[in-house]
Amino acid sequence: MEIICPVCGAKLIRENRSAVCAGRHSFDYARQGYLNLLIRQSTDHGDNREMVQARTRFLNSGAYAFLKDELVRISEEYRPGILADLGCGEGYYTCGLAADEKYGFDMSKDAVRHASASDKSTQYIIASIFHLPMPDQCADMVLTCFAPFAGSEVMRILRPGGIFVFVSPAPKHLAELKQVLYDRPYDNAAVPLSTVLTKEKEYVTEHVFHADQTMIQNLFMMTPYAHRTSENDIRKLSSVQSLDITASFLIRIFRKPLEDAAGLPRRRDRNQ
Ligand SMILES: [Zn+2]
Repeated sequence: MEIICPVCGAKLIRENRSAVCAGRHSFDYARQGYLNLLIRQSTDHGDNREMVQARTRFLNSGAYAFLKDELVRISEEYRPGILADLGCGEGYYTCGLAADEKYGFDMSKDAVRHASASDKSTQYIIASIFHLPMPDQCADMVLTCFAPFAGSEVMRILRPGGIFVFVSPAPKHLAELKQVLYDRPYDNAAVPLSTVLTKEKEYVTEHVFHADQTMIQNLFMMTPYAHRTSENDIRKLSSVQSLDITASFLIRIFRKPLEDAAGLPRRRDRNQ
């Protein structure tokens, strides 16, 4: 298991229903199988149950299945030993990925509980993606799909030569939904990533899906717009019976350079 103790940083070993470190810090596995390694109190507890349920209902419609298929394809291409999904949510994308060992991290207990109950191929963990309970340079692949870019942690846990996949909304994502909501809809700007990782590929994958009123409401609930749209604008959504909506994702694939290639300090020769 590539998980370290959030208290002392020593490796955690599974002992029956607990994960225990050499310093005897002990963390119990929940009935569903996940670990809660969040030791710091945080005001941000991640997505609540209502949001998790709305997202689950929407994803189960299959509207984003094409993105899931693409991420599975990428994992099969690189075939990682250890894979970490940062901001895994309900594990909709995580569960199908090909890897010898998979870890899914999210702050939301409701999301992790849901993920853990339905997907036994992944160890789900409640933790902040900005303080990951993983050792340095352990991961062959790191995925972040619709979650913030935790740059320094990605650099730390990736092994040299490892792969980082970042998925974010492309400019036309949900354009038709925004046209209903706003008088002057704007395109999404691509999140700039400041990183010394080497870009291997960057492309957009896109699909138009048909949404009925229930699906539109579920979709709206899971977007950032839910928090920043006026009640007046939200009312406009209820008047639309159905809508053809474009789902458009920007996929960026990076590789962590080997030390020499990155201009980072060279490992000293043993003879010197
Ligand atoms: Zn410990």
